[in-house]
Amino acid sequence: MTNLVTTVAETVESNPDSPAIVYEGTELTYEQFWTRAGQFAQALHSRGIGENDRVGIYLPNLPQFVTAFYGTLRAGAIVVPMNPQYKAREIGHLLDDSGAKAVVSLADNVPNVVEVLEDTDVEQVISVGDAVEGATAFDEFLADDTTDVVDRADDDVAVQPYTSGTTGTPKGVLLTHDNIRWTTEANADVPHGGFQSSDRLVGTLPLFHIYGMSVVMNGAMYSGGAYYPIPEWDAPTVMDLIEEEDLSIMFGVPAMFNDMINQPDAAEYELEALRFVNSGGSSLPLEVLERFEDLYGVELYEGYGLTETSPVTHANRKGARRKGSIGTPLDGPGETSVDAKIVDEDFETVPRVEEGPIDEEEADLHEITGELVISGPNVMQGYYELPEANDEAFTEEDGTTWFHTGDIGYWDEDDFFFVVDREKHMIVTGGYNVYPREVEELLFEHEDIADAAVVGVPDDRRGETVQALVVPTPDADATPEDIKDYCLEHMAAYKHPREVEFVEELPRTTTGKVQKFKIRDQE
Ligand code: AMP
Repeated sequence: MTNLVTTVAETVESNPDSPAIVYEGTELTYEQFWTRAGQFAQALHSRGIGENDRVGIYLPNLPQFVTAFYGTLRAGAIVVPMNPQYKAREIGHLLDDSGAKAVVSLADNVPNVVEVLEDTDVEQVISVGDAVEGATAFDEFLADDTTDVVDRADDDVAVQPYTSGTTGTPKGVLLTHDNIRWTTEANADVPHGGFQSSDRLVGTLPLFHIYGMSVVMNGAMYSGGAYYPIPEWDAPTVMDLIEEEDLSIMFGVPAMFNDMINQPDAAEYELEALRFVNSGGSSLPLEVLERFEDLYGVELYEGYGLTETSPVTHANRKGARRKGSIGTPLDGPGETSVDAKIVDEDFETVPRVEEGPIDEEEADLHEITGELVISGPNVMQGYYELPEANDEAFTEEDGTTWFHTGDIGYWDEDDFFFVVDREKHMIVTGGYNVYPREVEELLFEHEDIADAAVVGVPDDRRGETVQALVVPTPDADATPEDIKDYCLEHMAAYKHPREVEFVEELPRTTTGKVQKFKIRDQE
């Protein structure tokens, strides 16, 4: 049986002495890492935690995350990753909802766990960092010996992440061993000419999020490459590390690439060791892509996915790339692949355009766009104990189950897909639909703008009006009025932001998504 654990066991067997995890100059070889994961699994077993029990991992990117992750899977248990920025109330909800029996927490965050313990089924609190009351230190928790791997079937649940919550209450997503293994393999083998055991992967994407977990960490463990966990994003630190360690693969979100190119000494970095760089998680402004490529001479590819699809469904590849597109549906091992299409409200297929990207000014977006739906080996089993949400998420059609992404886009005859925006982000102003992304793209082209987000705010006359929050560059001259005029000059009047506000930074999730509900709530 191949599951996530047996796949990594094979890597360990063929690369025992290669570095698996490199952190602050210290290396754990595959053999060392695997022994620790086995000791973690044995420690869980000896405390009666095993098959289908949930184990919360409430850590930033650290070697212990990787150990606890594979240790939990080796014990036959299910990983519930939790954002280390969450406070007591938020993790209380996740621990309670998932019924977790154990939680691994950063020592500094243990008080948050202790605060909610009573309302949960947590029996074991394991801490990483200084000794702290109410928890067993990670190294003390590890057993002296390792345990046998618990057999898991392909459709057994491996990980239960909670969706990133840019929109509201988090839902537990049931991802099976096969969901994640398939995505990891498809992503590591197909679009990028294959990850190699000589590759060094930058671990900037948070491991509690499926993108960092499945694509980067599992990608490294699947291919035998070295994984460099980075607990906190800081552009200069990461760029120094890429230079010093010749890191070869970086997956990031647009906010990270934007941050890199906006460093005052951005042009001085030499990042040519990077042989593959990919952006996902939100739409990559063309301007950012082009400036990144000009500065570093490295191609920046865009992909797309969701937590519910483990995550990748679309990717651009070498030789099959369209700037501004999320790429084509992912092919996997053998004949397997992701299926995707664009449908209207009645689930009728929306016809493809001839060749994208189309000129959004010219086209009638109503005619060509619809909701992106997905079917394939990477689609989740469902939301945990939420039958109504599951009914809404899936549509059965001729024996195929389609998952609704909630993203609006179009597709072309070469099978390239284009995401216009999230369904719920669309602004309706005076009867016109405005897709914030289009306005944001234009704002990014302005030389005085470092970052921007566009939202709809209530307006008596128009229902909603377009508002732009803009982070100006340090030496910007433009005023909010100038920005309005600039937009008016370059787009239909109904789309231009009637309100422009300068801010110091935008509220973003750790995976780079602008939390538009927060902006709207503030307004
Ligand atoms: P998450 O579940 O946190 O991975 O968020 C998934 C959502 O991120 C998708 O439904 C999209 O709205 C957004 N997303 C991911 N990749 C892209 C992309 N390349 N372009 C536009 N939106 C994206």
